[in-house]
Amino acid sequence: MSTTPIRRIGDRDRRPDLAINGKLELDLDVHLHTLLSPDSDVPLEVYPALAIALGMKRIAITDHLDFDPRELGATMAPHQVRVDTTNKLREAFGDQLEILLGVEISYERQYEEAIREHLRDNHYDLTIGSVHPGADSPFKRSLAATWEGSTAHDTKPYFDEVLAGVESGLFDIVGHMDYVRKYVHPYIDTASFESAPELYEPILKALVETGTALEINTSGWRQRTGVPYPLPQAVHRYRALGGEFIVTGSDSHQPEWFALNFDRARLLLREAGFEELATRRWRDAGEQWPIKKD
Ligand SMILES: [Zn+2]
Ligand SMILES: [Zn+2]
Repeated sequence: MSTTPIRRIGDRDRRPDLAINGKLELDLDVHLHTLLSPDSDVPLEVYPALAIALGMKRIAITDHLDFDPRELGATMAPHQVRVDTTNKLREAFGDQLEILLGVEISYERQYEEAIREHLRDNHYDLTIGSVHPGADSPFKRSLAATWEGSTAHDTKPYFDEVLAGVESGLFDIVGHMDYVRKYVHPYIDTASFESAPELYEPILKALVETGTALEINTSGWRQRTGVPYPLPQAVHRYRALGGEFIVTGSDSHQPEWFALNFDRARLLLREAGFEELATRRWRDAGEQWPIKKD
């Protein structure tokens, strides 16, 4: 944890380099990484402070948890550390903001039983299941050029893995469901994925059947593809299929990414016909998170 406590940030203290869009667009951000993730060094107090500055009501800290022992995320943040950390944050900020004990689990079929066991033995308020390119994956940045001349159909193994993750029923939320786009860009471009809805269709149907929430992961807007995960057309299709559970995550690994592009996410949600953010767990608890209209 940082040794320098960060003050609660009021309007006068707001740093111009923090791209928080200046106003509240959505009431919650469910996807945030801190120094408890191998790929972030954000001090734990930063997101609560930013959320309070924006008037946001709820955040989830979702540091990585991997089950491949070769990954740093397998050991970096033991469950008890997360619990203790969340409790400390609640002591400091809990009167102004709800902080959920979350996790982003890297899903692979080969680790499904280990994940199931972990989730049976350890409580989280919110679980995201995501497929990340692991050590043996062909979908890595360093291998991007090997996809030259390929089409989106050649990434079907990634989508199959995501489908298995949704069908496992283990997670509240599927994270960045077409993240593979990032790793094959620009050799397989957005247009190729847009013309391959059949890659998305089984996953979207499985989301509806299992009651798993779709995440609009806004990091795509700031990354090289410039398009959120999943493609906007998949958000529309999910709604048409009867999808009800949807949330927004900025997937911040740096302070300036907190809630970034939530203005665009809100418009996409409204255009697709969603009126509230929800997971099945929240719905069952009677919670309502309406998406504000213009
Ligand atoms: Zn992820
Ligand atoms: Zn993430």
